[in-house]
Amino acid sequence: MKILYVSAHPDDECDNAGGTLAKLSKHNDIYIIYFTDGRLGSPYPEERGDKLALIRKKEAMEGLKVLGIDPNKAYFLEYPDGELSKFISDAVKKTIPILQNISPNVVFYPSTFEAHPDHWAAGKIMKEAIHEARIQADQLSYLNWEPKISRNLKITLRYLEWKISMKKAIYVNIEEFMDVKFEATKKHESQIKYFDDQYMEKFFKSKYERFYVEKSYSNLKEIIS
Ligand SMILES: [Zn+2]
Repeated sequence: MKILYVSAHPDDECDNAGGTLAKLSKHNDIYIIYFTDGRLGSPYPEERGDKLALIRKKEAMEGLKVLGIDPNKAYFLEYPDGELSKFISDAVKKTIPILQNISPNVVFYPSTFEAHPDHWAAGKIMKEAIHEARIQADQLSYLNWEPKISRNLKITLRYLEWKISMKKAIYVNIEEFMDVKFEATKKHESQIKYFDDQYMEKFFKSKYERFYVEKSYSNLKEIIS
């Protein structure tokens, strides 16, 4: 089967789904879209910019190889990190022909309940592009930055919408692939040094990766079990 995984940033594919992708890459064709260039991926302003974007692209390609994914099947759309929500209609136009070309059976993308603006935008772009491209595929979302009740009204509303939606969550057992996931993540050298214990706990100690069913998961169910 053909599977498309959509990352807002280079490394989201490892954190959220490295185990699932390693599992799926054995018998399926995996494609990746990276929407942003990751140029802001440092707490130090002097490290941010073109050079970091280039480093992150190379790290992503190395990480994909570890996951068993051909880096030539990755689309780097290079929208500026942190600003994807300004480019939604442009990104929808660019994504439609990619979807039509691949014609995937399963698509993973960030949830539109995401608290992170780039992740939220990537989810919105994918929903529109899939609709316009008339792609019939399983659709699953992932929630990396969960919305919380906070002073930010928009995020609080997103939290309430998420809870009310009662979307079905599925958990992929990645026990056999935890080492591969971590090896792939280590290729993202520029990022892993900034992961704190809480992040490591959430994404690298769990034997399961969680996805929400946006639209059917019959194809995925067949290949995951
Ligand atoms: Zn991200």
